[in-house]
Amino acid sequence: MNSNEENLLELVEILGGEEGVKIVKALRESGDTTVEEISAKTGIQINNVRRLLYKLYNHSLVTSRRSRDKDTGWFIFQWRLQPELVDAYIQGVKQKILKKLKTRLEYEQQHEFYHCGSSSCPKVAFEEAIETVFKCPSCGRPLNPLDNSASIDFLKKKIEELEEELKV
Ligand SMILES: [Zn+2]
Repeated sequence: MNSNEENLLELVEILGGEEGVKIVKALRESGDTTVEEISAKTGIQINNVRRLLYKLYNHSLVTSRRSRDKDTGWFIFQWRLQPELVDAYIQGVKQKILKKLKTRLEYEQQHEFYHCGSSSCPKVAFEEAIETVFKCPSCGRPLNPLDNSASIDFLKKKIEELEEELKV
């Protein structure tokens, strides 16, 4: 795998998670492919395949082509990876991601968070916790202070990595 491809997969993972990566790999192997074929190949539900393809499409990573089925006369949509993916584009996207991560880091560092302990409930910022008198807005259980240093460390690490990559 060359660095361009690694960059691409890394980017796709940020945009579309593991399923996005599976889809891109399926596209790379088969060229023009329909949503149904991708779904069959990856085991990802058709709706999710479609949603992720549009997301990738919005970032110009894939392109679609419409043709007519010779037998049925119906239109077929096929997807493929955008072949002329250039480094400049990836750099641009990384810059944007870097900016978002920095904003997020700032937010994490400047806010105190609370959590009820249930994995299905989101964490709550201090300002919001005051409003509910420190009860979880989702389940109503009491909120406890949450140590977000792991999130901060994770963000710092990601930012460092991106900055390092952008230097090259
Ligand atoms: Zn809760």
